[in-house]
Amino acid sequence: LTERVYLDWNATTPLRIEARQAMVAALDLAGNPSSVHLEGRAARRLVEEARQRVAQAIGASERNVIFTSGGTEANAFALQPDLVGRDAKPLRRLVVSAIEHVSVLSGGRFARGAIELAPVTPDGAVDLNGLRAMLVGKPPALVSIMLANNETGVIQPVRPAADIVHEAGGLLHVDAVQGLGKIGIDIGALGADIISLSAHKLGGPKGVGAIVLSDELQTVAPLIRGGGQERNRRAGTENVAAIAGFGAAVTAAQADVTIFGVRSQRLPNTTLFAAPGMRAETAVIAFDLEGIAVSSGSACSSGKVTPSHVLKAMGAPLEITQGAIRLSTGYLTSEPDIQRSVEAWRKLSGVLGKR
Ligand code: PLP
Repeated sequence: LTERVYLDWNATTPLRIEARQAMVAALDLAGNPSSVHLEGRAARRLVEEARQRVAQAIGASERNVIFTSGGTEANAFALQPDLVGRDAKPLRRLVVSAIEHVSVLSGGRFARGAIELAPVTPDGAVDLNGLRAMLVGKPPALVSIMLANNETGVIQPVRPAADIVHEAGGLLHVDAVQGLGKIGIDIGALGADIISLSAHKLGGPKGVGAIVLSDELQTVAPLIRGGGQERNRRAGTENVAAIAGFGAAVTAAQADVTIFGVRSQRLPNTTLFAAPGMRAETAVIAFDLEGIAVSSGSACSSGKVTPSHVLKAMGAPLEITQGAIRLSTGYLTSEPDIQRSVEAWRKLSGVLGKR
């Protein structure tokens, strides 16, 4: 039998080892996170640790993370006609881009007649002029635009869309299910009011996700009513093991390589990247010993590494910039050269990236 090659990671992903370990440990806890005794508090600790990890991964406040049963529930939860826009008017319209996941296209708690489709360009991105025409001078709307499309991978112009939506008195929901763990997400930088996430697209378990609210948006009406879990916003005893697995997967995904300027149009020959904990000077030498010449992304004189002014200007954190490595190819670079470099990185990454 030939070994299988799995190239369907947008459908779902194999469980990360870190997620599996966190889940197995959680399965052995007897307590209900709502109980105040020792067993209950141990389970609560895992849920809150995961909440912290998810919040931190997208620059949100912990109190604004609400765990759900996955991306579908997160979308159904987020799309609700009771929300009030930034100019205090209720949002009775729902505008969704024509390329959204079916769980968004179905409109959550909006009536069918209240759902309108925003157009998309032939390049697969939301048509911002079309969106503007649907919003400006019209009753304010809740708008839903995904961060990245599950079929094409096209990253959507979320930030400019958010500005248009807010100017028109609306709110923006972003289905970031396909983005989490693949590109950097910052709720503030995106200008999103609500974000949907799912664990199983980034090596977490299936059947767990979250909606995350911006600091400006404090109230959402629960989709599932009952007990007071999740600060009265999502009833039901928490799936502690799945939530713990989600938290572990998010952290593990963040430990992956950062490619600087990944969302910008870059020269096809240039990649500047870093792994957490990696030191550029050590990495350059380690690559050199493998017979591969790379450059550090920082200025290096007499053994002292100064972080690149470019990365500093981009606002990259110091602990990442000090490990930046630049790879640049040219007309003599061959396919085997690239393969050898990738193999070298596979060998070195575990060692160089350790904290
Ligand atoms: N949104 C997008 C963009 C997706 O690709 C998916 C999964 O296919 C979902 C939402 C649904 O997430 P879940 O499978 O966790 O319900």
